[in-house]
Amino acid sequence: MKLTEVDRKSRVLTKAQFGCLRNAYTINITRGCEFTCVYCYARGYPDAPFCGEVQLYRNLPQKLTEELDNPRRRSVIHRVVFNTASDSFQTHPDILEITYRTMMVFLERGIGFSFLTKGWIPNRFIELFSDFPELIVSRIGLVSTSNRYRDLFEPNAATVSERLQNIERLQNVGVKTEVRIDPIIPFYTDDEESITKLFKALITIGIKTVSLSYLHLRPAILNQLKRELPPTEFNVLQSCFENKPWTVVGSSTRSKLIPASLRKKGYNRFKHLAKKFGIAALICSCKNPDLPGQQCSSAFGTEEIRSSLKEKSIQLSLFPC
Ligand code: SF4
Repeated sequence: MKLTEVDRKSRVLTKAQFGCLRNAYTINITRGCEFTCVYCYARGYPDAPFCGEVQLYRNLPQKLTEELDNPRRRSVIHRVVFNTASDSFQTHPDILEITYRTMMVFLERGIGFSFLTKGWIPNRFIELFSDFPELIVSRIGLVSTSNRYRDLFEPNAATVSERLQNIERLQNVGVKTEVRIDPIIPFYTDDEESITKLFKALITIGIKTVSLSYLHLRPAILNQLKRELPPTEFNVLQSCFENKPWTVVGSSTRSKLIPASLRKKGYNRFKHLAKKFGIAALICSCKNPDLPGQQCSSAFGTEEIRSSLKEKSIQLSLFPC
């Protein structure tokens, strides 16, 4: 992976315009992501760097400090969301250094944040978080305990064991932690045996809530999958979307959902098995607009976590979900 350092010229904190993140202030440490998950929609953005390159915003902590030291700006920033288009826990030491300094800027000012990661969280972050657990919501992306799944779909992300260790270490220092099972891959990670293995691993380390969402396609993702998956896996996946029209899903105007009947069946399987383990399984409403009564948990975790943050008087009114 080639790391290029660039200066951030525009404002650091930008308001998301989509789905459950609408109106949330978001931040990304890099443009591009070394994990190169095959299903990653951010890789298809028009300004995404070429595959193999990651652009690091080297002036981010300084720009952020200036932005937050402006009283008018500070008065509207209460919480932020990391990693809407990259991962702050990529392995390059320079990325981790900017991530650390950026998170410090928020925490020193009492500003909370959430992050979703598939990376390994180094110990110095855990030590930092242990001083501010009430300000942080962590969400660990983990779809399967299968190493083959990880090698095919998330080839450069942290191992299953590392992600499970992340959860344990975060919980040990009091950071609220949930697991996001997204994207579920039909016929690959949604069979009874795979789900059972995953829930067994999660309940052992005290996870009580997971959020679920099946893969949905955008045109760029389709090309990535074709290029990067073995033909057998690609053909099975493609067949799930055949004859489905491109439609509006969340922030994307051109997406394809897996047929509702298949998703419903799969979600029911997850929920049924989750109940056996005493785990609450919630379905992300943003990515399942055609299924009724679902709960969105993308910005600051599930209702359980949001309630606990409210109890601590952290303002969440910016986030309607
Ligand atoms: S970790 Fe997230 S941002 Fe990075 S490649 Fe995977 S899906 Fe994309």
